[in-house]
Amino acid sequence: MRILIADDSNVSRHLLESIVRKWGYEVITTADGSQAWEELQKPDAPRLAVLDWMMPGMTGPEVCRLVREKGSDPYTYILLLTSRTQKEDVIEGMNSGADDYVVKPFDQQELNVRLRAGRRIIDLQDQLLRAQAALRYQATHDALTGVYNRGRITELIEASVAGVETVSVIMLDLDRFKQVNDTHGHAAGDVVLVAAMERLGAALGDGEMIGRYGGEEFVVLTRRGASESMELAEALRQRIAEEPIAIGESVLAVTASFGVAVREAGRSGSASDLLREADDALYQAKRDGRNRVVLGRG
Ligand code: GH3
Ligand code: MG
Ligand code: MG
Repeated sequence: MRILIADDSNVSRHLLESIVRKWGYEVITTADGSQAWEELQKPDAPRLAVLDWMMPGMTGPEVCRLVREKGSDPYTYILLLTSRTQKEDVIEGMNSGADDYVVKPFDQQELNVRLRAGRRIIDLQDQLLRAQAALRYQATHDALTGVYNRGRITELIEASVAGVETVSVIMLDLDRFKQVNDTHGHAAGDVVLVAAMERLGAALGDGEMIGRYGGEEFVVLTRRGASESMELAEALRQRIAEEPIAIGESVLAVTASFGVAVREAGRSGSASDLLREADDALYQAKRDGRNRVVLGRG
């Protein structure tokens, strides 16, 4: 773990540096409070800091206060180093946002265990952040295909429609997919869904998104206008149809039908209107014989 040591006394700084290095930390040192603040603002700043109280530029508690005001996520664990032992000083130091303090001249073992306590806090926060990120992912993505789930893609469409720019949605549904399940089994059906999403994902441009709207029904969100959205839908249709999908040893020809709905720039219309229009167009494509693209009526 990386650690910042800020102390203007050369003797004290070098001593600290050599002992924490011995304990396996990667060390960054500075002799100045403002410099310490600079270091702690960097994107890959150390998560653990030992700050001397009195330093040129800024005092340890001043640096502490700035770090807490900035509210760093991930958390920076700060240990103040002080020769002051008055109770008021300790209170002042902790009030500035320090997590702990060590009185100079410090006992090595004490410093070691206090740093370890800091690392435990940092590790715990890392675990929490990871769990939070995993939950956020689960709450917004489809577990099978990895594309956005219905809730998330709907939110994204709603957010886009709230703006004034052109927004299009392309709704697609795999053709005769029930037959795939009935003939080859549900697991094979899953393989087809995943493979189809890989193909579509690879064909989308920057800022274009796809979500699973229902079982084998997906929706693409794009900023393209009508003719370009139709081109995209046609390209997606070809992507799926051009090559059969491999399932174990065998291959399976798969096609999908597409419905496109456009909300031109400056026009009004809700996300649900747009989705309904795309859905109607998709069902027209089904009625017209499947494996085709139909533009909604606007
Ligand atoms: P159409 O061309 O009219 O769309 O016919 P279809 O057979 O694709 O339509 P239908 O709605 O009758 O059937 C959709 C099938 O998709 C039924 C359902 O079992 C299957 N399905 C939905 N979700 C999943 C899934 O996650 N995995 C698998 N394997 N099948 C799924
Ligand atoms: Mg279908
Ligand atoms: Mg369906």
